[in-house]
Amino acid sequence: MNILVTGGAGYIGSHACVALLEAGHDVVIADNLSNSRRETIDKIREITKKDIIFYEIDVKDTNKVEQLFNNHNFDGIIHFAGFKAVGESVNKPLEYYYNNIVSTIVLSKACIKYKVNKFIFSSSATVYGDNEVPFVETMDLMPATNPYGQTKAMSEKILMDAAKAHPDFSVSILRYFNPVGAHESGLIGEFPKGIPNNLMPYITQVAKGKLNKLQVFGNDYPTIDGTGVRDYIHVMDLAEGHLVALEKLRPGVHVYNLGTGQGTSVLQLLNTFMEVNDIDIAYEIVARRPGDIPISYADVSKAKKELAWTAKRGLKEMVRDAWNFEKNL
Ligand code: NAD
Ligand code: UDP
Repeated sequence: MNILVTGGAGYIGSHACVALLEAGHDVVIADNLSNSRRETIDKIREITKKDIIFYEIDVKDTNKVEQLFNNHNFDGIIHFAGFKAVGESVNKPLEYYYNNIVSTIVLSKACIKYKVNKFIFSSSATVYGDNEVPFVETMDLMPATNPYGQTKAMSEKILMDAAKAHPDFSVSILRYFNPVGAHESGLIGEFPKGIPNNLMPYITQVAKGKLNKLQVFGNDYPTIDGTGVRDYIHVMDLAEGHLVALEKLRPGVHVYNLGTGQGTSVLQLLNTFMEVNDIDIAYEIVARRPGDIPISYADVSKAKKELAWTAKRGLKEMVRDAWNFEKNL
């Protein structure tokens, strides 16, 4: 298939491009590099030894998107492009709603106009909010009360309504849990701007000496050791999840959790990182981070049953590959 990957220069998108190219698909990337680097495109070529076409465009720009659809005969699109920092979304709500919602509308309109009938969307476990774990796809959504979470819930709804009105337009909504790690080559990975908000890049930057010590946000949650529990998933497993979601997409709208189904606490992740990589990480326990939920992990039975997909890589690979990428930067 010939696949348009928006946000393909970013963290998850670049790994998905590798998975697509290695499975024999052709890839066209559209990315405005607002949160990524041009070099990543060359790294994808280096890993896969395949060519990709890259357009540096904003996918909110209807004219540029239409030009793109005129230039290529796409079989499907994977839409990763978007802003993703929860804290920043509280301070810049309009930028978040504008970027994340308008891009989804412009791209889905183009798909319907040009009869590109496969649409894969990057959603997030944040749409489950405070539901009981494990999170199941059939639950009512309670997106976290931040603009980022709202943009994901709204984009899901927009795509569902579009698919209802256009029965040929098939949509797969993928709700990611906590993607971590990097491609095993160490050539592509996560490049957070400024001080990382997320746990794994924070740990790797302390390991590298870029940051002094990790702050663990709260140790009084009702969890195994009091620290927050999340479902960490290796980014290559996540990337492969997109491949099967695309290849097995049937008519209609389908929602899948992409996680491992395993919860891991902050201290468990930190200890695994220190053991596997043989590095000491300084840390201190501080107050809870406002807005955090205690526990998040996925029920992964739907993706297993319908897509025959499960995550294959464990925590050890996640911490090894995350460090392998950071240390080679
Ligand atoms: P990322 O920031 O690394 O990648 C997003 C890419 O989209 C970047 O390369 C950026 O330059 C590009 N982009 C943003 N707005 C654009 C626009 N209007 N036009 C063209 N390009 C644009 O983020 P990521 O971690 O790879 O996340 C990819 C998607 O997955 C996002 O939609 C994000 O919300 C979602 N997601 C991420 C996580 C996570 O923890 N990383 C979890 C759940 C969902
Ligand atoms: N966390 C932490 N210190 C950090 C960053 C995160 O203790 O510097 C904790 C956070 O409270 C949560 C877990 O690590 O329990 C994962 O946080 P992250 O921001 O990576 O993901 P999310 O909260 O979006 O699931």
